[in-house]
Amino acid sequence: HLPNSLEARDVAYQLHSYTDARRHEEAGPLVIERGEGVYVYDTSGKRYIEGMAGLWSVALGFGEKRLAAAAARQMEKLPYYHTFAHKSHAPSVELAEKLVAMAPVPMSKAYFTNSGSEANDTAIKMIWYRSNALGQPERKKIISRVKGYHGVTIASASLTGLPNNHRSFDLPIDKVLHTTCPHYRTMARPGESEADFARRCAQDLEELILKEGPETVAAFFAEPVMGAGGVIVPPQGYWEAIQPVLKKYDILFVADEVICGFGRTGDAFGSTTYGLEPDMMTLSKQLSSSYLPISALLVNEKVYAPIADESHAIGTWGHGFTGSGHPVAAAVALENLKIMEERDVLGHVRQVAPHFQARLRALARHPLAVEARGIGMLGAVEFSHEMLRDKPGALGGRIFAAMQEKGLIARNLYDTVAFCPPLIISEDEIDAMFDMAEAAVAEVAKETGV
Ligand code: PLP
Repeated sequence: HLPNSLEARDVAYQLHSYTDARRHEEAGPLVIERGEGVYVYDTSGKRYIEGMAGLWSVALGFGEKRLAAAAARQMEKLPYYHTFAHKSHAPSVELAEKLVAMAPVPMSKAYFTNSGSEANDTAIKMIWYRSNALGQPERKKIISRVKGYHGVTIASASLTGLPNNHRSFDLPIDKVLHTTCPHYRTMARPGESEADFARRCAQDLEELILKEGPETVAAFFAEPVMGAGGVIVPPQGYWEAIQPVLKKYDILFVADEVICGFGRTGDAFGSTTYGLEPDMMTLSKQLSSSYLPISALLVNEKVYAPIADESHAIGTWGHGFTGSGHPVAAAVALENLKIMEERDVLGHVRQVAPHFQARLRALARHPLAVEARGIGMLGAVEFSHEMLRDKPGALGGRIFAAMQEKGLIARNLYDTVAFCPPLIISEDEIDAMFDMAEAAVAEVAKETGV
């Protein structure tokens, strides 16, 4: 890279997330300069389809002027105020009201945070606070799932069930436990039907609860469809088997809707798609199309009442972020939700998702692929490193790099390549995306003689 270029200065000064630092020093970054619709452009002017909507999040694409205008209006009127100690402002009130109204099951209150990690972290603190308020201080254990992704703070990284987020960080913390990942192909026993596998996942959960002691287990966290763990769509009957176990032992259910929320699965929420009845929901990403950071935690009356009830009071709810309910972020989220309704983005998703899923499954017919998984506008193809006797992740990395070279940004999660484009993507753009993906896979196959 040229001295003084953005690429060279990036390598010199910036430490990146989820990046191998030494490899970054050699290869440098892809610097994105601008965006429009489903496209982003790098500093050389090369155009890419953003097949991941950034980080599963830019629902309305990269050039929505109305979101910029909403931010500017709010910046000029009231650029900042907080929501501590009985203070409030219109954007946070309106957004809280809107989210409670949109929730697929009755919810009482919205609490604002700035990232998915913070929303999940806050959920854990609220659950612990509630257990204390109820006089059940022993009820603090939380169960999530192997391969679930819930964030990177100390508590939310503990919920996350991926080795990369635990190894070298001395995590998970001891109150967080993990149950079976519901991935049928890799986790089912030989000859086990999908329905039997789903029932066994629920049995595994129940056994863990009984082993730990039901009186010590406070909550279960799960994404309706697992995202960063490899886009793992639950097997038939999974949620129908899991939810009664939670109800039987009076364990709170927290649905992490950070990826699924606001249309990704073809419904307003993943909970709607799967008939989930969560007590708490965490929301972020598509809430504001990620134009500004904002996240929210919705809680039902069962969670809220003991926290608010004076007879249980254990002091002020001593928690909050400077940016909680930030007026500019909240104004952008409100405008984002308004645009989604006005343009019937959900209707559009329902119209184009079958084509997206058909092209995803066609890509997975390549001999290098072992499985396609997906629902709505979320999908992934898993490739087999064994074909090349590469180390795990190497083939996914090569295919991902070939796609990027052709002008498609996807995401490799080891040997799984994920696709999660902006919800506004057209059928033609879906075709362009998968044409590039197919060409990239063919090229890697040819190079390696498969
Ligand atoms: N929960 C889910 C399901 C996610 O996919 C993510 C991020 O990808 C998070 C939580 C964490 O969100 P953030 O990166 O905003 O902290």
